[in-house]
Amino acid sequence: MWSRLEPLDFHRTLPVKALGKMIDQRILEAWNKLYIDSTPEEHWNRTLIPSVEWAVLNMELRPNFLLSQAVTGHGAFKSYLHRIGKRDSPACRCGPIERMPEHVFRLCERYSEGRPADWTEGIADEEIRQYLIRTMKWLWEEEKEEERAGVNHPRRAQRRRNVRAGVPITGTRPAPTSR
Ligand SMILES: [Zn+2]
Repeated sequence: MWSRLEPLDFHRTLPVKALGKMIDQRILEAWNKLYIDSTPEEHWNRTLIPSVEWAVLNMELRPNFLLSQAVTGHGAFKSYLHRIGKRDSPACRCGPIERMPEHVFRLCERYSEGRPADWTEGIADEEIRQYLIRTMKWLWEEEKEEERAGVNHPRRAQRRRNVRAGVPITGTRPAPTSR
């Protein structure tokens, strides 16, 4: 992709500052192209941040802890937690649908309260930002609740399976001496 860019003409006399700006611009264009060409799994963050150029121009909107999770999908999403081995299933509570950010924020009935109708402004839109933050908090609450209840938790599920299969308890913890 880089090779498709026109070579910089270093023979032209340009003040260093102007040259720096020109290079910045080209890196930005190339980066933007990579972003636009990204895979379908990465499409979601484009709903929130339309382009890299846009992100640079709107630096003051740099996502906070919860917004970052909403944008990247690395957070309280079953799809992500399942991928890193923290949950048994990637499915949403609404049914056998993988709970990815787009499902939660755009499609799932469960999280439709206060959902903005217009997403064209991405995270530049205050209403969208507030909805994302509110929903992220809710997702974390649900995850904590499930963890307390021992639902959808791989280690506990494995233990239950082991007990059913009669697998002896192993690990660093000493086995109980009496039953
Ligand atoms: Zn759902």
